[in-house]
Amino acid sequence: MKNVKNVQSVKKKLDYTLKLTLDLLAIPSVSGDCDAALARVRKEFNDLGLPCRETNKRALIATWNGADDSRHRLIAAHIDTLGADVRLIKENGRLRLRPIGGLDWRSLAGENGFVRTLEGKEYRGTLMPDHAARHAFPEEVRNEPHTLDTVEFRLDVRTGSKSETEALGIHCGDLVFFDPRTELTDTGYLKSRFLDDKAGVALILGAIRQMKEQGLSPAHTTHFYITNYEEIGHGAPVIPERTVEFTAIDIGVVAEGTASSEHAVTILARDNITHYDRPGILQLKRLAEEHDIPYRIDGYQNYGSDASVALRCGKDLSALCFGPGAEATHHYERTHLDSLEATLRLLILHLQTQLL
Ligand SMILES: [Zn+2]
Repeated sequence: MKNVKNVQSVKKKLDYTLKLTLDLLAIPSVSGDCDAALARVRKEFNDLGLPCRETNKRALIATWNGADDSRHRLIAAHIDTLGADVRLIKENGRLRLRPIGGLDWRSLAGENGFVRTLEGKEYRGTLMPDHAARHAFPEEVRNEPHTLDTVEFRLDVRTGSKSETEALGIHCGDLVFFDPRTELTDTGYLKSRFLDDKAGVALILGAIRQMKEQGLSPAHTTHFYITNYEEIGHGAPVIPERTVEFTAIDIGVVAEGTASSEHAVTILARDNITHYDRPGILQLKRLAEEHDIPYRIDGYQNYGSDASVALRCGKDLSALCFGPGAEATHHYERTHLDSLEATLRLLILHLQTQLL
């Protein structure tokens, strides 16, 4: 009972951030088609008095002028998610898919979703094994591995042939969006696909909102970059002039063998592209310790962020990355409100901290 009471108070503190996280999770946005989610994000920035500009790739950058305008800070999170596209239309009218981003294909067995055509028509469907009917096939077929060539997207529309499916306006390359299956438990766990990185986007807007409500402003002019191609590795090519530090707000990985927690903010020490800026990591660690924010410092093998990719692309920046810890990343993810709260508090402090 005590635990539930605690959850209520954290929920209240996170009010706007949590609601926005849930709203964004409900707007499908696979890399390559994020416009609806970005329109919502743009509206939030506008409401906070920070108009956005759109990059050529249709990502958004909002700028908040800070006390110091000579050196700028950049904070990024990505709105795009994993998904799939149509690889081929089978003779039986169903679709073979190809994953977008580092998806765990096993996690999509039996998942619902929809395919969106170039013209914007949407058809619901389900990713099913080729031999799904338990009553119809021998034992060895039932145990087929779940690979790209043994599962098909079964459309919920009457079609039994390739030409009938083509007549629906479906082409190769059409994007497939899987349902997030979002659930917030009364014990404070938030379960959903694509917490990575919709929680990050909501945390940025939540931090700005809390600061504005409290009359706070950033130490330096700060750009907020909401990227739309992070999952396929080309998120943040536009670095505004005078930017010296690039902080990605992205997911922490809770798994056997990592140090992260669903009840703390993860500060990344390294990923498989780079070590992050050591003095910057120390500054974040000290901020967390001085303000009793639960934190973990961690490093991951199969991980890159918009900040580390910017370094790999040759940008001269001090790169940092932190974010909420989540279980089962790129699968059916789960975090706890504790982790969202810890990240929100650290982000608010980070924005008010002098660049090194
Ligand atoms: Zn991410």
